[in-house]
Amino acid sequence: MKTATLTGRGGTWVAAKARPNGSATSLAYGVIEMASTVSRQDFLKLTGIGIGALAFSELGFDLAKATAIKRELRIANATESRSICPYCAVGCSMIAYTRPDTNGQPQLLQIEGDPDSPVNEGRLCPKGATALQLASSNRRVEHPMYRAPGATAWQQLTWDDMLDKLARRIKDSRDRTFVAVDKKGNLVNRVDGIAFTGGATFSSEEGYFAAKVMRGLGLVYLEQQARV
Ligand code: SF4
Repeated sequence: MKTATLTGRGGTWVAAKARPNGSATSLAYGVIEMASTVSRQDFLKLTGIGIGALAFSELGFDLAKATAIKRELRIANATESRSICPYCAVGCSMIAYTRPDTNGQPQLLQIEGDPDSPVNEGRLCPKGATALQLASSNRRVEHPMYRAPGATAWQQLTWDDMLDKLARRIKDSRDRTFVAVDKKGNLVNRVDGIAFTGGATFSSEEGYFAAKVMRGLGLVYLEQQARV
């Protein structure tokens, strides 16, 4: 059994152990085995040293290269499309890799950070790094769902039904809360009962359009997540 060690706070830690067959799994096994009492800083040092040492001399092959080849095969000949993470206002840039499936439909293979983006330089936070699941998870809700006031169960609606319902609610709320003249007698023509928030993937044009529509309805409470 092979080991790599580092002397740090609290003594000498075993960095990694490789089983005699030198498999990559045994490397991960060894690292997990030692990690329970080491600090985060030490852990990063340890894994850097362990992988660096074992990748070439102990396992007999370059793990980084093997990982790159595996990744290369997964997205080989895929179409690259650039987009923006939908989750928050940081606006990290992403690359989506797609390839037609046997029916000719685009199949999403992978999403990763765009290294050419000055915003995230190829990185994604854990939330953005799981964006693939937003599109491919079998737990994704693909239809409008409605839960009536006081009800415990959700019901599935068509998009037309849901849009009609939204339009009805907006009209009713606007009629009910419209203020033509304020308490000082000023003509204001505003709606106090509705607020609007825009999502992170709004483009400048969409944000402009949404603001125009909402102001046209008389809304004064507007917020916009996208600031990029
Ligand atoms: S990757 Fe994370 S930080 Fe970047 S936009 Fe998405 S949620 Fe925000």
